[in-house]
Amino acid sequence: MICPSCNQIASSWQRNAFSLQGVTFLQSIKGQLKCQYCGVLLRPVKYGRQLWFVFFAFVVFMALIMLFSDRFYRAFGLVAVGIYWVILVVMVCFVFVYAMWKYTVLEKVDDEAPKTP
Ligand SMILES: [Zn+2]
Repeated sequence: MICPSCNQIASSWQRNAFSLQGVTFLQSIKGQLKCQYCGVLLRPVKYGRQLWFVFFAFVVFMALIMLFSDRFYRAFGLVAVGIYWVILVVMVCFVFVYAMWKYTVLEKVDDEAPKTP
């Protein structure tokens, strides 16, 4: 996540994950954020190809986990499987947030620019 305006890292991943990054909630849903250095309003243009690899790796990973869940359940019971799944979901969210942060390409949002018809 490099700011195209000042060429610094626009936001730390912690800031990316746990705050609105200087924009309103609605803007945040749209993926917009403000650069932590120069304060320019940014939006994602595209996501790096690496993000799809991460996504693909997860699908494979989840499939493997599902295969093992049954065995796990029979060996350790429902609570163990529950805990196991919660940890996995947290891990998946964490890695995904991190990958999104790392591989998103940003561009400046230009509010003043006249809209082309
Ligand atoms: Zn900047």
